[in-house]
Amino acid sequence: MYHAPVTSPPHVKISGKGVERLRAGHPWIYRSDLTDVAAEAGDCVVVKDHRGRVLGHALYSDRSQIALRLLTREDDLPATLWRDRLERAFAVRQALGLDATAYRLVHGEGDLLPSLVVDRYGDYLVVQALSQGIERRTPEIVAHLVDLLAPRGVLARNDPKVRTLEGLAQKVELLHGEVPDVVHVREGRVQYAADLWRGQKTGLFLDQRENREAAARYARGRALDAFSYNGGFALHMAPACASVLALDASEEAVARVAANAAANGAANVEARVANVFDELRELERAGERFDTIVLDPPAFAKSRPSLPKALSGYKEINLRALKLLRPGGVLVSCTCSYHVDEATFGHVLYEAATDAHVPVAVVEKRMQGRDHPVLLGVPETYYLKCLVLRRVG
Ligand code: SAH
Repeated sequence: MYHAPVTSPPHVKISGKGVERLRAGHPWIYRSDLTDVAAEAGDCVVVKDHRGRVLGHALYSDRSQIALRLLTREDDLPATLWRDRLERAFAVRQALGLDATAYRLVHGEGDLLPSLVVDRYGDYLVVQALSQGIERRTPEIVAHLVDLLAPRGVLARNDPKVRTLEGLAQKVELLHGEVPDVVHVREGRVQYAADLWRGQKTGLFLDQRENREAAARYARGRALDAFSYNGGFALHMAPACASVLALDASEEAVARVAANAAANGAANVEARVANVFDELRELERAGERFDTIVLDPPAFAKSRPSLPKALSGYKEINLRALKLLRPGGVLVSCTCSYHVDEATFGHVLYEAATDAHVPVAVVEKRMQGRDHPVLLGVPETYYLKCLVLRRVG
């Protein structure tokens, strides 16, 4: 590839295939579709076709396979782009009327702010810069956040592994004000103590908020929350249930379930450290049965090659759960693997039901919460699928 000397403004030419991708509405251009680069890591570049026609402006990475992330298709980059996009993302959240103090304010590509995540936890914000371009603009973005929202603290949870694909270090650092070890937030009637510094993701699995509310609407009798993390589903279901058993492999998570249950006055929640794969078999062998079960495992398919193994994992836990479910009971089954699409997940559940010899009806098809917008034409923004099933016999 020809590397021209970097003159101002930085620019990148892309192949016909790359142009097609942009036309189809996707904001990513892969490295193999670059034909001419006059830019440095993290630059905001003018994107051109092979004849030099301007297609828009993008963030450039000199390391990732995702070499360009489109910011705008305009000829000129508006000086107020970052501020405007942040304001629009906040307005969208306000219009949703969420009954929670913790939610996602910026969902990367879904908010036309590629590779930027901003989560709100009450008076505190957590940001993730997942590309060289966003990394370089973090000070400007944080200045806008402080100006627009006046948070007491802004934390960078820049420890996701994907940062290494950009050649960026994994680190957690305070960017503004102060962020305490424990932050108290609320989702509907449920209170959580969240650890923004060390908790999984940015502290909570905010993408499941609306599915937790949905599970509470179905919950009854004896409930099981498998892969509970700090007990989000369990705590939402507890008021409607006789008892709830929460299972997670992480000791910290289970300790947090117990503390959250006490803080919410949910005396009917029991939390146990366990490997769900083993424990579901144990429970079945012991003849235990449940009226409501939630399965919310981590992403088993982190990449396409891992898909076959992941699918057999999903099938296994769903088969076991269906066997543990009493007739008439409800299974809330989730996958947060982008590589497992809706049809594939439906098929896995069908296979699990067939092997378990139980008739199952689909009650609801759900997805990630509305504060995690899915952009049509950008399948990568649609990762979380949640099916509510009823064992009908
Ligand atoms: N349901 C949670 C989020 C679950 S995230 C919520 O609503 O907040 C997935 C969880 O699965 C993590 O907490 C992780 O510790 C746990 N986990 C991963 N593998 C596991 C296994 N084999 N057995 C039990 N828990 C596991």
